[in-house]
Amino acid sequence: MKTILEEIKSCTDCGLCVEVCPTYSITGEDLFSPMQRLKTAGWLFDGEALEPRLAESLYNCPKCMQCEMICPEKIRITRVIHSAREELARRGLGPLERHNSVIKGIMRKGNAVNGDPSKRLEWLPGEFPKHESDTLLYLGCLPSFLVKDAAASTYLALKKLDLDFMILEDEGCCGTYLYESGKTDLAGEFFEKNLERFRALGIKRIVVPCNGCLKCFKYFYPDLLGEIDIAVHHAVEVIYDLLKDNPSVLKKIERTAVYQDACRLGRGEGITEEPRRILDWCGLEVKELKNNREDALCCGAGGGIRSVYRDLSLKIAAGMLREAETKSVISACPFCVFNLNYASAKMKLGKNIKYFAEFVLESLE
Ligand code: SF4
Ligand code: SF4
Repeated sequence: MKTILEEIKSCTDCGLCVEVCPTYSITGEDLFSPMQRLKTAGWLFDGEALEPRLAESLYNCPKCMQCEMICPEKIRITRVIHSAREELARRGLGPLERHNSVIKGIMRKGNAVNGDPSKRLEWLPGEFPKHESDTLLYLGCLPSFLVKDAAASTYLALKKLDLDFMILEDEGCCGTYLYESGKTDLAGEFFEKNLERFRALGIKRIVVPCNGCLKCFKYFYPDLLGEIDIAVHHAVEVIYDLLKDNPSVLKKIERTAVYQDACRLGRGEGITEEPRRILDWCGLEVKELKNNREDALCCGAGGGIRSVYRDLSLKIAAGMLREAETKSVISACPFCVFNLNYASAKMKLGKNIKYFAEFVLESLE
């Protein structure tokens, strides 16, 4: 693996990444392009003092990885940006003020969305199931508090499909926000506590509805703690596996909707066909955005930018939604669902964005 400095130095200034970058296309500022972010990171690692706008450019990237798909030198630009955030945090120049208030909320309330911990299970239909299993359905902060239909539909669909799993009464946060903001020490301590708890419970597999949790458990935990002995799967993968030999259990619900590929699931994991097949089995006619699968546009929410650069995040989301030909849009990412619904309401775009498992559940009823 190349070192961070080697990654930075291998940039040939070809500029191919600039046009595909959502933060550049919305702002038109070179500063907010991948090519310039690499230069900025280089200056930072050379020990130069960065002006606030330059530091900001390292924090307003949603880590959509569009730039990495096109870069002929295969530079892992988001890896460089992450290291630069860690360096900013080490020097006391990051994270930014708003990041710090979210981090304080995580430490105080155990979730990244300022939710009341006593209401974490409000989405749960019925009593808390006191059941032990080596498979843990880990709902995540956003589905638990803000996109409750994603939590409830995933839970109920997996139950209907006879998966043996448990949930936690006091789940807590996966810690992705801590890692993404460059607070590596804090993230490491947080991850360790969670991992100890999972091991004590005998967990062998974690299933998540959220791509942020997926990336965190699958890549960020091993990055800081070394290999972990727990498999991590997105709900799409699990539901696909449970249905693939007998999709006829699904009732056809004949509707037309656009499927939106979330960056971390499509580009990141290559999971593009499974959700489309599931929706097809549910009887949906799936329409495509012009940019789809690995080439999909970003929803503008990830990488910690929505909490700090709300306006930029909103414009990126609205740009993506305007490409959708149907009112109904389906996503397999609760954060995309949340941000796209927010953008649709704010910009009066008339779209209705739902989590994929809602259709699976409807089809199973
Ligand atoms: S990850 Fe996305 S937003 Fe960040 S620099 Fe690359 S293309 Fe731009
Ligand atoms: S595409 Fe790659 S090599 Fe070209 S400017 Fe961007 S980062 Fe540098």
